[in-house]
Amino acid sequence: MRERIRLFRLATAMTALTMTVVFVGLSLGLLPDSGTTAVIARKDYCEAVAVHAAREARDPDLAGLRETVKSAVERNPQLRSLGVRLTDGKLAAFAGDHEQEWVDPGDVPFTGRYVRVPISANGKPWGQLEFAFGPLPAGPFGLTPEVAFVIFVGVGCMLLYSLYVWHMSWRAGPTDLLPHRVRSALEALSEGVLVLDTRQQIALANGAFSRLVHIPTDQLRGKPIQELPWQMVNTNGPLVAADLPWERSLRKGLSQTGFLLSLLRDGQLIRLSINTTPILADDGKNCGTLVTCDDLTGLEQKNTELQDLLLKLQHSRAEIHHQNRELKLLATRDPLTLCMNRRSFMTELQTVWDRRLRGGSAASCVMVDVDFFKKINDNHGHSAGDQVLQQVAELLRGNSRNTDLVCRYGGEEFCIVLPNTDLTSAAMQAERIRAALAANPIAGIPVTASLGVSCTELSPATIQEFLDQADKALYAAKHGGRNRVVCFNEVPADSNSTEKPLTKPAPAPAQPILQNPVLPELIATFTPF
Ligand code: GH3
Ligand code: MG
Ligand code: MG
Repeated sequence: MRERIRLFRLATAMTALTMTVVFVGLSLGLLPDSGTTAVIARKDYCEAVAVHAAREARDPDLAGLRETVKSAVERNPQLRSLGVRLTDGKLAAFAGDHEQEWVDPGDVPFTGRYVRVPISANGKPWGQLEFAFGPLPAGPFGLTPEVAFVIFVGVGCMLLYSLYVWHMSWRAGPTDLLPHRVRSALEALSEGVLVLDTRQQIALANGAFSRLVHIPTDQLRGKPIQELPWQMVNTNGPLVAADLPWERSLRKGLSQTGFLLSLLRDGQLIRLSINTTPILADDGKNCGTLVTCDDLTGLEQKNTELQDLLLKLQHSRAEIHHQNRELKLLATRDPLTLCMNRRSFMTELQTVWDRRLRGGSAASCVMVDVDFFKKINDNHGHSAGDQVLQQVAELLRGNSRNTDLVCRYGGEEFCIVLPNTDLTSAAMQAERIRAALAANPIAGIPVTASLGVSCTELSPATIQEFLDQADKALYAAKHGGRNRVVCFNEVPADSNSTEKPLTKPAPAPAQPILQNPVLPELIATFTPF
């Protein structure tokens, strides 16, 4: 409805302009006034008749004059009557019903309808001719021809202009609905823009789209959009027309955003993100589709590069993490045996000690020293000695819990701290280790060790005292003949044996010498590895 009102207004405005031109022409006298023309014609006729009548009036019997009057009325159908009145007021001749028709115009000798023409003879007034015309001719419907003409032009223009604007609006394509400045703006856009008509032919393609698909704009214009080498993303299969975004916009009036399509350009696929929106006329009729295309190819390449970089970054992070772990291992572990080194051992021991001080359960310490290790080196070589140390460390770790701290305390000396372990359990574990070592030669070399056990139950005041007590027990084991376990509470109070026996004592007993009365019973249930 609004559209019709708009078209009506447009036609009215055009008609008004035309009428203005007509009125200006009329006022300038460009169009002859029919009334004036008719009056002039009557005047000319009257004068011609009067000249003729004046000549005839010289004839005394006035026969010629009567004939002239008669023929003048007969020749001019507008002339209703014509009379020749002498100066005494008598009608000398007349034609038509002159007495009825003639109306004296008074002082005005000539009106459009009644004309009085005086006739002289010998320089004296002789009489007058009296012309009585009918009314001036009227236009259709009794209007003057000028008014009828103006009305005709007005109505005619109104009708024709209405038809014209309606026709033009009906024929308007999608690009006609876009003002010129909008089209210029589309041209300036960096993203590709297409305007499709209702047959999905390209009505407008901006320069960016032309550059995108490598096809000149004049070749794109009028081309059905389906004829471009589109391909579905990922599937690379044939296009499903109903799925295409411009199809949905045109048929269903829906806007589509971010629809991914590939397009074959110079033998290579480019990836596009398509947005479409219907172009609606003022009456809501869908008269085309606006399509915009974003080239994602570069973006995707950058994405791929970014992914590669991320992957490399992850690898190097993993590498760094791995190296950090190795560094940490190197910093905290002994490289030969992979047991804790002394520095990290002391740090961890401090934690265990502090926990115990906060009311935790007992912790124990086992000092292990390989017997006569110097001889192993001497007899089998240093690398065999290294191998022995590695195997001993392996055995110590295998007989420990995850929470135990296994440290290479010196050359062939190891220290194990067992959190949450009382003296009895620690002595059992020490015995298990001793027995396992004694029972399994390493690389064919019989290896034994002496072990000293201390426990927080024996009330060491400091960490150092805790370690010293295990050390004293170890030396007691050495003095006792090696290949044995001694707990600190078994070391005589007056013993000051911090020196190892230098000579090899008598061969180690087959059974361990345990001075703790509880241990023999426990050992009886122990199965060596
Ligand atoms: P004892 O039974 O009294 O403990 O006698 P031992 O020979 O085991 O003790 P000693 O202290 O006399 O000798 C220890 C030897 O351990 C001396 C040293 O050469 C050797 N040693 C220390 N560290 C290493 C090492 O990393 N590798 C090797 N192969 N030998 C080592
Ligand atoms: Mg030794
Ligand atoms: Mg030693």
